[in-house]
Amino acid sequence: MKRIGAVELGGTKAIVGAAVMDGTAQPHSIETIRIPTTTPEETLDRCAEALRDLSARMGGLDAVGVASFGPLQLDPGQLDPGRPAFGSITRTPKPGWSGAPVRDHLASALVHLKEGGVPVAIDTDVNGAALGEGRWGAARGLDSHVYVTVGTGIGVGVVVGGRPQHGLVHPEGGHLLVRRDPARDPYTGHCPYHGDCLEGLACGPAIEARVGRPATDLPDDHPVWDLVGDYLGQMVANLLFALSPQRIVIGGGVGGRPGLLDRVRHHAGRYIGGYIDHPAVTDGLDGYVVPPGLGAEAGLAGALALGWDTLL
Ligand code: ZN
Repeated sequence: MKRIGAVELGGTKAIVGAAVMDGTAQPHSIETIRIPTTTPEETLDRCAEALRDLSARMGGLDAVGVASFGPLQLDPGQLDPGRPAFGSITRTPKPGWSGAPVRDHLASALVHLKEGGVPVAIDTDVNGAALGEGRWGAARGLDSHVYVTVGTGIGVGVVVGGRPQHGLVHPEGGHLLVRRDPARDPYTGHCPYHGDCLEGLACGPAIEARVGRPATDLPDDHPVWDLVGDYLGQMVANLLFALSPQRIVIGGGVGGRPGLLDRVRHHAGRYIGGYIDHPAVTDGLDGYVVPPGLGAEAGLAGALALGWDTLL
């Protein structure tokens, strides 16, 4: 049994918790503490303080996992002094957070909790959620899967061989390029980098900009949902073609809209076009494109899994 601390660092709030884990059963945090995300110094200091309190109550912490908003610098070999250190936020429009050394800040604030310091693991929020879903949720037992959150943005976490994937940087599947038919959808998208990429067309703010009302106010049968289902269907086909994951989990405030996943499956089937000959695909994608199993717990569960994995 190990005592693991966890931080889910989001753009508006951070959630801190801790659990005793055996590596198999789904962990339940003994308490969760919510901290508003303000400046990096204030936010990370308060997260560290919450972790020290939890550590005092649990008799110590063996490791800490952090699932953070990004983009993050996750290449341990990248020693270019002009770049932020491993575990830092890279370039973000969020004021004050570009270059914020999230991992190093927490690791130094917790250095006295354990001989040699407490290991602090970090990954993107979506890679963390993907890891949690693979261990205890809708992708349990699979070797490779993808987790997608569709909300104010679109994030894509990728797990292969039980490990979150990085590479040159980390996957940025929210910015996949999709086909838009201007006759059907004249909206040119809101991504500041690409205009009509996937996120630019299918996230909550893009839906609101198109119809003039927040996505949450729209009825389930509003025509925009079929358009969103079309773009997410293209994403499913592209992920399937490029990565061949065994399952794709789609959640988030927009992704959880009733009926949306049926539209995604329908359109994904059209775009796949009969090319992939596997029962998971040819039987209608019902078991292939699925909602999350962990719900609101996914973020913290992912952070706990990241912390656990540092001890392997
Ligand atoms: Zn984009």
